[in-house]
Amino acid sequence: MDRIRNARHFAPRLQRWLDDLATAVKPASPDPNQPDLFSREGPKPVYTAPVWSVPPSQKPPPASPYVSPPETAVPVKTRPLVAPPSDQPPRRQLLVGEFILEYELRRSTRRSIGFMIDDDGLRVTAPKRVSIAEIDEAIRTKQHWILSKLKERRERRAARLQKPPVEWIDGAQLPYLGADITLRLLMGGRNRSIYNPHTRELWITLMPGAGENLLKERVKTWYQQQAKELFGQRLDLYAGRLGVQYHSFGLSSAGTRWGSCTADRKIRLNWKLIHFSLPLIDYVVAHELSHILEMNHSQQFWDTVGLIYPEYEDAKNLLRKRSQELLVLFP
Ligand SMILES: [Zn+2]
Repeated sequence: MDRIRNARHFAPRLQRWLDDLATAVKPASPDPNQPDLFSREGPKPVYTAPVWSVPPSQKPPPASPYVSPPETAVPVKTRPLVAPPSDQPPRRQLLVGEFILEYELRRSTRRSIGFMIDDDGLRVTAPKRVSIAEIDEAIRTKQHWILSKLKERRERRAARLQKPPVEWIDGAQLPYLGADITLRLLMGGRNRSIYNPHTRELWITLMPGAGENLLKERVKTWYQQQAKELFGQRLDLYAGRLGVQYHSFGLSSAGTRWGSCTADRKIRLNWKLIHFSLPLIDYVVAHELSHILEMNHSQQFWDTVGLIYPEYEDAKNLLRKRSQELLVLFP
């Protein structure tokens, strides 16, 4: 509540500051609904805002000594950006700490404010009746989570872009259980995928004229078969150690969500875990099984994980690192 009161207190002063600044930049604005300050078109604005961050040194100096630019918890009341083109949801900007956070705002019939982060940045979905000030406040409350997720995304994307894409040809190197295996292509009439663990070669038989998409599909199917079999074995092993029983197990493929466990003990594991080494797979298995006993991430939950997987802390960090490095083989 204090923050909200603060917001009301600061908003008029800040607005004055913003107005001063806007006037200083571009005195004659033809359209008052098109604020110059954050406009991304036309002359470069004072606030050149990259997608999510501006080093503090680039922040504009205060226009007047009377009001200094907001530093931390002052909810900045920004105005809408450029008028959104027809079907594009509006993008807004908010000063969070020393960062200018840009986000896309969608209105919906949902009852609470939701946050989504992907390669395009932050997307906020809010009920129609919630005011912009309330949305900004909600963002501030979750700023730590939002900023760290955005950073993670950005790093993951950078790591991904640095790697050369896999060439889907004979001899290609593919990640399997934490190491590379070699793809071998055979021309033949029958669809066969055979893995030789001694030579670490995956032999795929293809009909003459088969294209890359078909090859990828075949390799993906093979990966999923291995995942299904191996993960099932590991689940049984760790379920026995923990003394729990799961109801069912299925493969998922959603983004980088590695696993889930529902209240009725249905476990899903991302088949892409098959790219990683067995200890990492086991960690996710132990993690999801522990949710059968503790449906949260409390200390008690981690203690439970520790019973069957003592090095969970290392595995957790390593999994995060590996996920960032993982090639996107099957987008
Ligand atoms: Zn969990």
